[in-house]
Amino acid sequence: MLRAYIVSTGTELLLGSTVDTNSLFLSQRLTELGIKVEGKVVVGDDARDIREAFEQGLRRADILICSGGLGPTKDDLTKDMACRVMNCKAVLVEEEAERVKAYFMKRGRPMPPSNMKQAMFPPEAVILRNERGTAPGMYLRKDSKLIVLLPGPPHEMRSMYHKELEPLLIADYVLSKQNSAHRVIKVFGPGESQLEVMLGELIEKPQGYNMALTAKAGEIHIGIQVFEEGETHRRQRLDQITAQVKARLGLHVFGIDQDDLLQVTVSTLIQRNKTIAVAESCTGGLLGKILTDLPGSSAYFWGGVISYSNEAKQRLLGVSQDLLENFGAVSRECAEAMVRGLVHRSGTDLGVAITGIAGPSGGSEEKPVGLVYIAVLYRDSCTIKEVRLGGQRDMIRMLAAKSALDTVRRILMDEER
Ligand code: ATP
Ligand code: MG
Repeated sequence: MLRAYIVSTGTELLLGSTVDTNSLFLSQRLTELGIKVEGKVVVGDDARDIREAFEQGLRRADILICSGGLGPTKDDLTKDMACRVMNCKAVLVEEEAERVKAYFMKRGRPMPPSNMKQAMFPPEAVILRNERGTAPGMYLRKDSKLIVLLPGPPHEMRSMYHKELEPLLIADYVLSKQNSAHRVIKVFGPGESQLEVMLGELIEKPQGYNMALTAKAGEIHIGIQVFEEGETHRRQRLDQITAQVKARLGLHVFGIDQDDLLQVTVSTLIQRNKTIAVAESCTGGLLGKILTDLPGSSAYFWGGVISYSNEAKQRLLGVSQDLLENFGAVSRECAEAMVRGLVHRSGTDLGVAITGIAGPSGGSEEKPVGLVYIAVLYRDSCTIKEVRLGGQRDMIRMLAAKSALDTVRRILMDEER
């Protein structure tokens, strides 16, 4: 697989005043082309740093793409350094010199001599037109290595990429955007590092595909990209990798691509013709809200109880005072009593109870903020899950509700296996 390395230059990127969006853009485009981005680095406008970054990049990759530092000023150094590491000598290109001169003539301004720097290129280079600014880019390919220089201003860089660079890359390296396909496998439950262990060599030593993990609101998304000639082959390859992932992760996988946890959970309820009710303490009705986000929810959702206070737990769900005194409202015992009281009253196929500490106050050493118990009652068997969630109050509540959905999904899907 062709490998690339990205260098973003500009002292402002190190000062934190500008976000390095260029490398993000380039990573996305290169990945689309099936080029593996080996690494990237941000360096200031310093000759030695730029040179080191270039040398390092060329050691690690076939293609080095650099943005910034193409201007006419003293701190614009990338072309000098590129020529040095590639062992090339820049000479004045007449046509470019005319262009720079014309630019200043048109604006009626005298041309500072330093601007001629922008007309100097090694003879081996392809000059990349800049439709949106004065600094041309450079495409210098020599001895199986390629250095590309693009301007720093993002709109110039992007337009140069699309109009000038991408066609050259496609032609020179026989690439095609059409040869790659992507799939996301969505997981709820294990953390990122745990998942990495479970995936083992599938993620450590991918054979001809890319795999990357992204954590999103309690979920982990496994992105897979394959490169194959032909739509059918790409699909087969994606299916094959998906099957390998599922074999290792089992029920932790809840969906692919567009699937979301709510929709998947609700479909399992609808397919099995099951009804559900909720009893919520720390989530204050959030689970009920989520379960009614989809139209047609009356087909499966009975309703619920927001039993926030101990009194509500007793009066609305029949949790005993003894139990509350002995175990506390945030306990396995209370979660089970809540769900049993709930289903006794609702008569639904399933019941879910949530009780926990959303914080920021109310935690103790024994029962810290983020401790949540989720109880699901189904066919008279009670599944109780204890989770320790991180984040602020909102996050804890959201994760608790999602965890509850996930527990329901697992119970129903497990029954099918
Ligand atoms: P110029 O002719 O404008 O000097 P240049 O090619 O030398 O062009 P730089 O001086 O490095 O480019 O950057 C110009 C501007 O582009 C910077 O002020 C900065 O705001 C923006 N810029 C540079 N690099 C990046 C980057 N990696 N991501 C986002 N913006 C960037
Ligand atoms: Mg500059």
